[in-house]
Amino acid sequence: MVVFMGKKEIDHISRILAEEKIVVFSPYEDEIYSEIEKCQNCSLCLAFCPVFEVTDKFYPGPRGIADELSRDVREFWRASNIVYMCTLCGQCQEKCPVNAPIPEVVVLLRSKIFVQRPDLVPEELKTLLENVSKYGYIFEPMSNEERGESLKGRLEMIGLPLTKDPPLEKGSKIAYFPGCQAETRLLDVKEAGKLVLEAFNVNYGIPEGWKCCGLPIRLIGDSAMADELQRGFFEKIKELGVREVVTTCAGCASELRAAAKHLGSGIHVRHLIEFLFEEVGVDVISRKACNGGNVKVALHEPCHLGRHVGRYVVAYAERILKALPNVNYAGMKGADECCGAGGLLKFHDPTVSAAIRSRKLDVISKSGAGLVVAPCPLCTVNISEGVARRKLSVGIDDFTVFLAKRIYSKEV
Ligand code: SF4
Ligand code: SF4
Repeated sequence: MVVFMGKKEIDHISRILAEEKIVVFSPYEDEIYSEIEKCQNCSLCLAFCPVFEVTDKFYPGPRGIADELSRDVREFWRASNIVYMCTLCGQCQEKCPVNAPIPEVVVLLRSKIFVQRPDLVPEELKTLLENVSKYGYIFEPMSNEERGESLKGRLEMIGLPLTKDPPLEKGSKIAYFPGCQAETRLLDVKEAGKLVLEAFNVNYGIPEGWKCCGLPIRLIGDSAMADELQRGFFEKIKELGVREVVTTCAGCASELRAAAKHLGSGIHVRHLIEFLFEEVGVDVISRKACNGGNVKVALHEPCHLGRHVGRYVVAYAERILKALPNVNYAGMKGADECCGAGGLLKFHDPTVSAAIRSRKLDVISKSGAGLVVAPCPLCTVNISEGVARRKLSVGIDDFTVFLAKRIYSKEV
């Protein structure tokens, strides 16, 4: 007898069967696994996997994951020592002749391990999950006082004004979603996002009580919690009649967009770059963002934006940068190479993550750019740390902050 079930029912039954160590695969998951069986063992992906390269072949790479799973997909726990090493950069899938969905398999494996063998989930990732349960974000937020001081100092330094958070309400057109990094670490990104939207008279608001987009939760393996958070978020903004989300984070953009589709929410999710390019237009952007001196700028292409959302967003970013007055755009060979922070590798194995970042720093050094902009707060923080450690003279800015500075301040 064949029984058709929805995702909720499958999650519920999976949890019950997990106690008996029985694995349930949804039709969607079965489809993903069967895609892996197409792997031809050609090894092409190995040449592009950053983790394979820096771990001196300890990590078996995408082919190893594909190979192991194509032999016995049900014994997913055999892969537990490798699935948390993947940055989910997607370089393997992009180069694979049969388009084997390695990143999707890695995420699925993590979710199976989380349900069936929680003892195999790395402790440092469990801590991040506890943060989400406690604070709503993957990092513990600063106290109000500390946050106020830090934000004031940072905005004064970069010449941007401090504005209030406008609440999302009935009649708002856009829900602005800053993401955990911008809310708890790179505070100026959230402010810059607001300022850019205001500069172009966008009718937006910030959803009250918004929480993590769900990406880190899904990457730890708790896909049920990620779905629940995302479903709640979409329902809340829909109650206000809002149908569009704009975010300044590459990871949030890719996750919320996929979730909106997967949950059938009818919500349109875009990165700020997409929104500006498609709704405002390059000419208007360049007329507004006309401040600041001459600077040679290169673009870091976050994996979650270029490979997970789509190359066209990176092309939009390039078009915007090329159009800005006094900005000399420098093409960077290796712009789309992973910075090492993705897939939670930065938290799981900081040494391997830093080794991948080191390759990225070589790419940046060779570019000759005076400033590198990254349309993702996670990449910006990660690359900035590397630049400071290596004492490179190049500047690193989040794309949104750079744009806000070109609009509002004289100093860039
Ligand atoms: S997604 Fe990136 S890190 Fe993961 S296996 Fe593929 S190439 Fe390697
Ligand atoms: S995953 Fe793709 S690129 Fe890698 S070995 Fe298999 S077929 Fe080749």
